[in-house]
Amino acid sequence: MKIVMLGAPGAGKGTQAERLASEYGLPHISTGDIFRKNIKEGTELGKEAKSFMDAGRLVPDELTVRILLDRVADDDCKKGYILDGFPRTIPQAEALDSELEKLGEKIDFAIDVDVPDENIIKRMSGRRACPRCGATYHMQHVPPKKDGVCDECGTELVIRDDDKPETVKNRLAVYHEQTQPLVEYYRKKGVYHTVDGTADVGAVFDSIRSILG
Ligand code: AMP
Repeated sequence: MKIVMLGAPGAGKGTQAERLASEYGLPHISTGDIFRKNIKEGTELGKEAKSFMDAGRLVPDELTVRILLDRVADDDCKKGYILDGFPRTIPQAEALDSELEKLGEKIDFAIDVDVPDENIIKRMSGRRACPRCGATYHMQHVPPKKDGVCDECGTELVIRDDDKPETVKNRLAVYHEQTQPLVEYYRKKGVYHTVDGTADVGAVFDSIRSILG
């Protein structure tokens, strides 16, 4: 089963993708996580991606498609996967589909976690991350045990550059312009489903599960 998670940055698609991955025993593939790991390790790919990410812009399609196609060719992807944050443009979706077509495969479900922009801006302003180990928190929903400090390693928490208010606004604008056209793209293919992402995490998960059957 191959699933694409759609939804604005901050809609909660990452959380749902992670839950689905453990429920269905499929790998959770986040292009954002792959880029962040490369930035942390100081690789060439990381250096190339960082300036785009910090500005809230998309990493160029060519680079993104290359790392994604590499990743889905791994052995653990044979039974399927859950894509989180890819595709984000029509050319990315087309590149993935043409690769799948060669294998006689296709995306089975595109699940759109729908949350209005106002809610997203409110949610993102509470996000905090550990610059050392990468653990993430939310001041209201997932607070650390001790104010402003990482539970895992005791490091002081920060607001990720791409969670800063100006960047969030940019990312939402980019989302509407470049990623939302994918709704029509997957609708035409008959695999598009939407769930109300403003409900609590468990309720959103139940809705998705009932779509997947
Ligand atoms: P995410 O963690 O999915 O919100 O991604 C963080 C950032 O990584 C995005 O704002 C983009 O700059 C970059 N990124 C992640 N996935 C993609 C993608 N499929 N295409 C282009 N840029 C991406």
